[in-house]
Amino acid sequence: MAQATFKPLDQKAVTFELLSGHTIPAVGLGTWQTGSEASDSVFTAIVECDYRHIDTAWEYGVQEGGHALKAVMQAGIDRKDLFVTSKLWCSDLSPDRVHLLAISSEGRSQQTSGGWGSTGFHMEGVWREMEKLMKEGLVRDIGVSNFTIKKLNKLLNFAETMPSVCQMEMHPGWRNDKMLEACKKNGIHVTAYSPLGSQGGGRDLIHDQTIERVAKKLNKSPGQILVKWAIQRGTSVIPKSTHPERIKENIKVFGWEIPEEDFQVLCSISDRRRVLDGEELFVNKSAGHSEA
Ligand code: NDP
Repeated sequence: MAQATFKPLDQKAVTFELLSGHTIPAVGLGTWQTGSEASDSVFTAIVECDYRHIDTAWEYGVQEGGHALKAVMQAGIDRKDLFVTSKLWCSDLSPDRVHLLAISSEGRSQQTSGGWGSTGFHMEGVWREMEKLMKEGLVRDIGVSNFTIKKLNKLLNFAETMPSVCQMEMHPGWRNDKMLEACKKNGIHVTAYSPLGSQGGGRDLIHDQTIERVAKKLNKSPGQILVKWAIQRGTSVIPKSTHPERIKENIKVFGWEIPEEDFQVLCSISDRRRVLDGEELFVNKSAGHSEA
């Protein structure tokens, strides 16, 4: 197993700079499986807890109408200060669907991520359409999700615009070191999803003994330790919660750091497995997430 090669860095990073020159806030709110609580959670996060980064997708069923964003703008938040990531689902990975989805996503998405790592889609055609979205000013950045190194290299061979962001599952139980390294080498920012081990059949990292021990030692909550671990690896991170007190807790990760020795302890969790490898999530399971 690869060593934990990523040392704590830039612990004060509240935002990370992208290849495009734009910045992405280090902590965003995840919205998968937030259901009818999505709007309230997004409002709480932005207006009451200072989040400026929201992660969503058409597939999550929470984007329609853009109610939460309208409400936060009515509360005085400027849309241009928000980084909203949306994604094309695997069934939408055809060039003619890209524009349609971007147009119908109400307001300007900052980034449209293509991809569940699926095979059999017309990668170049889809990417060209995504590049067009940027040229037309419909999105500010474009990125990918659940890519393997092989797919990333294929994309980099023809991309006129580099992906700003690559989003993938990442937490101490699934570090994805090789993919992180490949992205860093190419200047591509990484966003870590399912940072707490996900939900409903996921992996309960919040109650992992190692995480709990470090949290206790540093007088932080396990959620904060997991979010901070991701930031200290140089990735942005998108914990999901529909509970206001947790939404607040998960972004209180600035002004302190995980010391190197504890950071390495977190990297040493031996039970290495990803959470999201279910059939329902992959077009091609074997070609989806991979450390290779
Ligand atoms: P997370 O790892 O963020 O975990 C969410 C779970 O942790 C929920 O059950 C939540 O419960 C609970 N939780 C949140 N904060 C705390 C806390 N402080 N203490 C204890 N429990 C807590 O799971 P996700 O899989 O949802 O990943 C995060 C986001 O990443 C998604 O919502 C989505 O936006 C994105 N994502 C992207 C994917 C992609 O393919 N690009 C795939 C999967 C996810 P509660 O809500 O009750 O607080």
